[in-house]
Amino acid sequence: MIIEIFVFIFGSCIGSFLNVCIHRLPKSKSLAFPGSFCPKCKKPIKFYDNIPILSYLFLRGRCRKCSEKISLRYPIVELITAIFFLVLYLKLGLTLELAKFVFLFSVLVVVSFIDIDYHAIPIYLCFIGITGGLLFVLWPTCALLKTGVFDLKVLPLYKAFAGLLFGFGFTYAFKFFGDIGLDFYLKFRKQESIEGEKESLGLGDVDFMGMVGVFLGVKAVVLVFFIAPFIALLYSAYAIFFKKTHLIPYLPYLSLATVITFFWGNKILSFVM
Ligand SMILES: [Zn+2]
Repeated sequence: MIIEIFVFIFGSCIGSFLNVCIHRLPKSKSLAFPGSFCPKCKKPIKFYDNIPILSYLFLRGRCRKCSEKISLRYPIVELITAIFFLVLYLKLGLTLELAKFVFLFSVLVVVSFIDIDYHAIPIYLCFIGITGGLLFVLWPTCALLKTGVFDLKVLPLYKAFAGLLFGFGFTYAFKFFGDIGLDFYLKFRKQESIEGEKESLGLGDVDFMGMVGVFLGVKAVVLVFFIAPFIALLYSAYAIFFKKTHLIPYLPYLSLATVITFFWGNKILSFVM
């Protein structure tokens, strides 16, 4: 029980750091300096007011100095990350796999929330994910090679590269034909764009799917690609019913689909087959 509590607390602290990433990376600001401060009164936030999840509750969601409302997103991101860390620990134990997927899930959180705000993400984010994913399979690959296994197909590094290329290629093919289809549609309707969108899929989506391939392999790319539209459809139904704004970024759906695929991908696959 003590390790579980520690993992949860550690996750919430990483969540706090992810908040900083979500807030500062799109503006190209330093992650380390300055320390946290209130966006309204600019006063630095003391360490005891910066405790993940708890400080928000103690302060009832307001700045101690100027009573400016603190966005509910901060504790939500901390809580989501903490829950991810705990669930991943329960599934994987204290292993290299845990570090690997904790890293992936952290990237998913950052990418999703930045995409919600800006409808775009810094191009390097998925490449950091891809590089990290490749580094995580180096060690198991070396370990396997040392035991004398030279079968390409079982080597983690080979699988990761295959996933990467497939993720890029598969998604880019859909983007290519999707763009042709969308072009045709826009000309037919004599429209410039659909609420500002001129592309079927963005290059950010292509990079993202390459990252999915590195971490989860070829099959997962296909699953994630086809699960995401169903989640988007659910949100669209909700948005239409409650008359909310309809155009929403796609990376949160791809992220959710990645989480679903990670936990239940095999079950879904065998069900579909
Ligand atoms: Zn303030």
